[in-house]
Amino acid sequence: MTAPIVIVGAGQAAASFITRHVALGNAWPVLLIGDEAHPPYQRPPLSKKYLLGNLARERLFIRPLEWYAEQGISLRLGTRIDAIDRDNLKVVTTSGESIEYGKLLLCTGSSARSLPAQSGGDLAGVFTLRSIDDIDKMSPEFQPGRKLLIIGGGYIGLEAAAVSRQMGLEVTVLEMADRILQRVAAAATSSYFRELHTAHGVDLRESVRMTRLLGENGTVRGAELETGEVIDADLVLVGIGSRPNTELAQAAGLDCDNGIRVNEICQTSDPNIYAAGDCSNFDRHGQRIRLESVQNAADQGDLVARVLAEEAVTYTALPWFWSEQYDCRLQIVGLNHGHNQTVIRPGANPSIMSVWYYRDDELLAIDAMNDPKSYAFGTRIIEAGKHPTHAQVADPATDLKTLALG
Ligand SMILES: Cc1cc2nc3c(=O)[nH]c(=O)nc-3n(C[C@H](O)[C@H](O)[C@H](O)COP(=O)(O)OP(=O)(O)OC[C@H]3O[C@@H](n4cnc5c(N)ncnc54)[C@H](O)[C@@H]3O)c2cc1C
Repeated sequence: MTAPIVIVGAGQAAASFITRHVALGNAWPVLLIGDEAHPPYQRPPLSKKYLLGNLARERLFIRPLEWYAEQGISLRLGTRIDAIDRDNLKVVTTSGESIEYGKLLLCTGSSARSLPAQSGGDLAGVFTLRSIDDIDKMSPEFQPGRKLLIIGGGYIGLEAAAVSRQMGLEVTVLEMADRILQRVAAAATSSYFRELHTAHGVDLRESVRMTRLLGENGTVRGAELETGEVIDADLVLVGIGSRPNTELAQAAGLDCDNGIRVNEICQTSDPNIYAAGDCSNFDRHGQRIRLESVQNAADQGDLVARVLAEEAVTYTALPWFWSEQYDCRLQIVGLNHGHNQTVIRPGANPSIMSVWYYRDDELLAIDAMNDPKSYAFGTRIIEAGKHPTHAQVADPATDLKTLALG
């Protein structure tokens, strides 16, 4: 009997692989192994509608549980893989069970970085936000009037800040860098979101270094800043980024460097093992990168299913991403790595704006705030390899549709 394609990690990339595998009618058996108790689900709503209580849990699941059995896909949930025996083509569960694979797909995702215990990271009332179980733990604590301190002004921290204000919590955000979103966006985008949060009553502090969390009887009560100032808090959300889950791959001797290194068909340094999603590190235009986005996880999972069905495909997808904060929908297309100029395209009112990233005259990426036209036509422009001039983009009278389709 053919050994199955074994997928480790039941998340977005795995679900996408399975969807394509089923659609292609590939008869190769698939076994999906995940350490969470849930079938693959969407994480983006966790820091948005789900934390707010506006989305039923069932709506998070990418497919209902029954669907997998109906498609002949075997599922082992609540099962962690601790080792890969590459010589014998087997993975080993925590309980010591060996499972044979024909091909192995690692979709192990990434984990939220936490604060060390010596900084108060182990106090009760300190949370990270990555999974359904994380939300289940923190949700009962999110009550109106309580003081929430968010460490880190990245997308997840800011989305949680927006939801928490809507729920009536008092929110402080601490960002160590000069500005929120510094790692991922231009100053104009940071300013837009700073103003948005400040207008909604968030106490947003940039260039602020926290020395440690303070506790009382094992429960967090605040944070001490480098300046000696103490900020009171009933709850703390740590949003200081993620790290790729590469331990399994590293222990098995696969090439890893900020993720599991894969080639243009998502194959690792072992030809029998593929990796997709947040855990993978790949080449894009001569630069090794790792992305944490639904687009990348879904497209790479999809690609591996095609590769295993012997389609001649390579990974060339255009990155896109989104975020939601209050009534602002941010849509991003492209990657701004290496930009040296930005051009602002104003909208009909201050809530509408887009930021266009250029390396000299080459258009790389766009952040579109409440501006679906800039996003949609900008996507067409980037896909077509066109590079409108800075002046064209900055002029609100320029018709983007003509630029995109002309
Ligand atoms: C709160 C939040 C909000 C987000 N918002 C957005 C957004 O708005 N837009 C966007 O594009 N992206 C967003 N993302 C990112 C996006 O959700 C991820 O990029 C995507 O889920 C990655 O998919 P994946 O399959 O690589 O990993 P995951 O979906 O994380 O799945 C990996 C799974 O593997 C399991 N696993 C790991 N190791 C093992 C092991 N050894 N054995 C068994 N199982 C294992 C993990 O527990 C996990 O269940 C958000 C993420 C979070 C956490």
